Amino acid sequence: MSVTIITIPNHGAHSHTRHPENAARADAIVTTLRESASAYCRFVQANPIAPDWLKTVHTEQYVAWLHQKVTTMTGQHSWIGEDTYLTESTYDVALHSVGAACAAVDAVMRGERAFALGRPPGHHATPSTAMGFCFFNNIAVAARYAQQHHGVTRVAIVDIDVHHGNGTQDAFYTDKHVLFVSSHGSPLYPFSGTLNQTGKGAGLGTTLNIPMPAQSGDAAFLRVYQQVVVPALYAFKPELVLISAGFDAHWDDPIGNCRLSASGYAALIDSLIDAANHLCDGRIAAILEGGYSLPALAACSLAMTARLANRPLPEDELGTRPSNPHGADQTIAWLTNNHPLLQHTKGASA
Ligand SMILES: [Zn+2]
Repeated sequence: MSVTIITIPNHGAHSHTRHPENAARADAIVTTLRESASAYCRFVQANPIAPDWLKTVHTEQYVAWLHQKVTTMTGQHSWIGEDTYLTESTYDVALHSVGAACAAVDAVMRGERAFALGRPPGHHATPSTAMGFCFFNNIAVAARYAQQHHGVTRVAIVDIDVHHGNGTQDAFYTDKHVLFVSSHGSPLYPFSGTLNQTGKGAGLGTTLNIPMPAQSGDAAFLRVYQQVVVPALYAFKPELVLISAGFDAHWDDPIGNCRLSASGYAALIDSLIDAANHLCDGRIAAILEGGYSLPALAACSLAMTARLANRPLPEDELGTRPSNPHGADQTIAWLTNNHPLLQHTKGASA
């Protein structure tokens, strides 16, 4: 099986050399995939999403405000808050980033596997706010696009970025048709994603947060995925699985606080692919989020792409770091005993 890699032609126009979220990130991934995975990767360029699609997640006022901000800015960079820069091309590049995520959905609905290399990333962008280097929530719009353009009803989003995907959570907190699962280092920006945030109203039980103690590594994460994430997917029964593929839980990441390795990430991806194979004809796509160590980004992207293509895992040249395999056991126990979706599983199997 080949993997469709969706790149953005103009992403270099949204960059800042002294900021961790810069153009070198996507370039490092493309270089590695071209060098080591060209036998099973098909590279295509994203088109910008039609702005009307943004309204499926974002308020019209916010979209108009952002457009106005970039068209009236002076100087090379402007800022939202202390950490989120803009250039005069940010709005246009962000439309391409959403377009890449939706193209990944198109590819998966054609029976392919896909990895969208969009940036800026999206999972911190709420319906009405840019934050955390994010402007439009790429994966949230892609989920709505899958529902409204492809007729998919039930979408699962699994966020493996080290930061909580607060924007994605906000977009679907009351929606019973979109499961949002996030494993994230804790405590860490944006300091949301607590265990007891499980959804509201009709969406009660379709938000699943897994705060991981700092320094959690391969074994603890894998226990969480095997004992919590995969059972939640089986309980929810998605028709499509989308991965918020952030690689800043890698031990080499300069701003993360966890200790996953590239091979550890691949084991998590394997558990998701296996679930997708059983539950939804293998329909699974990855959409880039964070990850700020260029060697780790390249290694994790290569490992994930190999597994999406059902190829052997490449050698993990960066290696692993020691960590406590039982560091998340209390979290696992709490979720197993208290999360509404997992209660449903236990009831169904009793
Ligand atoms: Zn992140």
